[in-house]
Amino acid sequence: APRINVIGGGLAGPEAALTAARFGVAVDLYEMRPVRSTPAHQTEDFGELVCSNSLKSESKNTAPWLLKQEMRRAGSSLLKFADASAVPAGHALAVDRVEFSRLIGEAVTAHPQIITVHREEVTSLNPEDGITVVASGPLTSSALSDEIARLTGSDHLAFYDSISPIVDADSIDMERVYFAARWDKGTADYINCPMTREEYDTFYEALVSAETVEGKEWEKLPYFESCLPIEELARRGRDTLRFGPMKPVGLRDPRTGKTPWAVVQLRCENMRADSYNLVGFQNHIRYGEQSRILRLIPGLENAKFLRYGQIHRNTYINAPRVLTPHLNLRDHPGIYFAGQISGVEGYTESIAGGLLAGIFAAGAALGREVAPVPRQTAIGSLVNYITGADPKRFQPANITFDLLEPLEEELRRKVRDKRERHRMQCERALAAFDAWWESIRPALAVE
Ligand code: FAD
Repeated sequence: APRINVIGGGLAGPEAALTAARFGVAVDLYEMRPVRSTPAHQTEDFGELVCSNSLKSESKNTAPWLLKQEMRRAGSSLLKFADASAVPAGHALAVDRVEFSRLIGEAVTAHPQIITVHREEVTSLNPEDGITVVASGPLTSSALSDEIARLTGSDHLAFYDSISPIVDADSIDMERVYFAARWDKGTADYINCPMTREEYDTFYEALVSAETVEGKEWEKLPYFESCLPIEELARRGRDTLRFGPMKPVGLRDPRTGKTPWAVVQLRCENMRADSYNLVGFQNHIRYGEQSRILRLIPGLENAKFLRYGQIHRNTYINAPRVLTPHLNLRDHPGIYFAGQISGVEGYTESIAGGLLAGIFAAGAALGREVAPVPRQTAIGSLVNYITGADPKRFQPANITFDLLEPLEEELRRKVRDKRERHRMQCERALAAFDAWWESIRPALAVE
């Protein structure tokens, strides 16, 4: 029977493995935890979410929604598990991370003769070892990184991004905070910590003078713009946070009827709602400093921190130089890449890559031709970006409308409303996706 290897039991790996298995292809799935861990993982679970518990927006006709809709139409296993472990989060799909991982673990270990799990670090990568999907993530072990560098012939790019703190719900002073949804849209799932101008100024001063972990060395590293440490954002100007993660607009305090000067939002971490993360508060501050500074936030004076913000390395290949639209190496077609290491950014994007690589690798194992995913779709736009971006300035990307194929000039001129244009782009994407999915199903003999 046809067989493939999948390296990585994070998000992209299990999705690739479960997808290939759906098409009758057996999988050897390698995960190095707990034998060896990464600087960000805390468990040995499959599909561990290392930071936030959000798989982004479910608002209709947004780019993250479109991506998830396409994945659902293709029967993504991990998205099914995310839907089944969802916790209230307004317009976003957030999950109970423990339950999410449990469902993934259950599925990948259910049929050992179809998916065989190996708890070991993969230290060599040889095209002769058969079709392989590399989904070892942004914290790929160094031995495997060396192998990838050897095979791709291109140097890795490395940068750092950060993770946000989590507080124990019982330690939040509920008298000082309020539940609200921005502009009262959707359910009021977020806890809001309001700040007066004076409180904000005190907090701001503490933040910009905070002692960071690696001091000067860190400042030389290129940041990923959408995941900037909070202290770095603060250094950009006194009001930068008030227009960023601490934006108060639309978050009127129901007790006073007034909009605070600034707001810190807390998002529910799990179904029991016993812990909350500080939205957008990833940082690179020393732990002791973090507990002192974050306790200046109204409501968090006595907060118990279950996790502090941290900073981590990110490894990814120069996909535009080395990958084809089938997500395999130009020079070694049996080797596929999926997830963050392929140059996408984000949980959902990584799962989407796993889905696609699973389809393509299974197709190759079955000896069948599978057409690449159309450019008009969200998944196709991610592929188009990672394989077509300027290799000299290549940086991982989340799904956004910027990556999607724009409407024709004439239509763009005719339809002035941006929302309507987005709706049209989504409609077109879903139609293209459905047509592609229908066209490849016979090749893969999907049930
Ligand atoms: P991973 O989930 O990391 O899975 C890779 C797996 O491969 C790991 O389990 C690892 O142990 C294993 N592995 C590595 N090397 C080997 C080897 N040699 N042999 C065997 N196994 C190996 N995205 C978001 O959308 N929201 C966030 O809040 C967010 N926060 C992040 C915070 C941090 C610190 C980092 C590093 C990334 C964050 N990301 C976030 C980005 C990204 O979405 C996640 O990293 C995501 O987990 C990527 O999925 P993946 O499957 O590609 O990699």
